[in-house]
Amino acid sequence: MHIFAIANQKGGVGKTTTAVNLAAALAANGQRTLLVDLDPQGNATMGCGVDKRSLQSSVYQVLLELDTLADARVPSPSGKFDVLPANRDLAGAEVELVDLDLREMRLKAALAAHQEDYDFVLIDCPPSLSMLTLNGLCAAHGVIIPMQCEYYALEGLSDLVNTIKKVHANLNRDLKIIGLLRVMYDPRNTLSTQVSAQLEQHFGDKVFKTLVPRNIRLAEAPSYGVPGVLFDKAAKGAQAYLAFAVEMIDRVNSWKDNP
Ligand code: ADP
Ligand code: MG
Repeated sequence: MHIFAIANQKGGVGKTTTAVNLAAALAANGQRTLLVDLDPQGNATMGCGVDKRSLQSSVYQVLLELDTLADARVPSPSGKFDVLPANRDLAGAEVELVDLDLREMRLKAALAAHQEDYDFVLIDCPPSLSMLTLNGLCAAHGVIIPMQCEYYALEGLSDLVNTIKKVHANLNRDLKIIGLLRVMYDPRNTLSTQVSAQLEQHFGDKVFKTLVPRNIRLAEAPSYGVPGVLFDKAAKGAQAYLAFAVEMIDRVNSWKDNP
């Protein structure tokens, strides 16, 4: 079971779009996949077609050990993957976790019981470096960082990289950066291509080969509660996320060959 956190403390950079579409694309490739929504906004939950307003249980109950993951997860109505959903309740977890033992290890502990259930677990992190994100980073083997190729993209990346280093040093020796995913890419925009080239220069093979273009169909899909890759499979954005899933599967298989 490979557990990846999709993180970037900036909002609106494509974390949720990446989490939902990668989950659906992995599932479409036969991978047993769980998507964990760690954002109180519940956008990933809604984007999969799960109504955040009528949840029996959610990731909040799991983090506070009020319920088990087995009871809180739901099958995505739109794709062949499971969702551990979130809603506004989760905003309270931040405060409620503070006084508890092993507060940053709650998600890791919950996932440990499901080693055999999934090939991939994707964690959609909130736009902050909070206790929730920390739970995501402590549970994960690696981080996928979606970023827009714009002037300020690199600013802020160092905060995230430092946090990942600290978590690696103190809490989770398994954690590494899997890669940077360029999203909302516009090849006609000179700045976009320049920043993209800079990323490749600085981060080398930590930059995923797949480029996700800016594509309106990806932005439309959430309002139908369907991942973009299923909403309009032929669209350029959907094709990119399908290619990204194959890139991730190849990446993971290459670790098996060279441990
Ligand atoms: P985050 O989770 O980091 O806050 P989102 O995934 O919610 O970011 O994306 C922010 C907004 O940008 C959403 O409205 C989403 O539909 C849109 N968006 C994300 N990726 C793309 C893309 N490749 N093309 C067009 N719109 C996108
Ligand atoms: Mg989001």
